[in-house]
Amino acid sequence: MQTRTPTLDLDWQTCERARLERDAAYDGKFLIGVKTTKIYCLPSCRSRTALAKNVVYLPSIEAAKQAGLRACLRCRPG
Ligand SMILES: [Zn+2]
Repeated sequence: MQTRTPTLDLDWQTCERARLERDAAYDGKFLIGVKTTKIYCLPSCRSRTALAKNVVYLPSIEAAKQAGLRACLRCRPG
C-alpha cells in the first residue's frame, strides 16, 4: 500500500522538545508547521511563538507544501 504523505520517524514528544528548545540538531529531520500563520519552520527558528495546539510536525518540505504551508522567511527551510 502506498502512502501519499511520508510519515515522521520521530514521535510527537521528541518534536515538541526540539521545538521548545530550538534544537538545531533536529534541523533537516523534521519541520514545524504553524496552522495559524500557514508557515513552516526549522526546529531552531527563532521567529516562532506558536502554541502547541497550533503546531503540526512534518517530515519534509514536500509534506509542508501539500499541507498548504509556506516557507518561513527567517529560517528559510527551503
Ligand atoms: Zn522560521
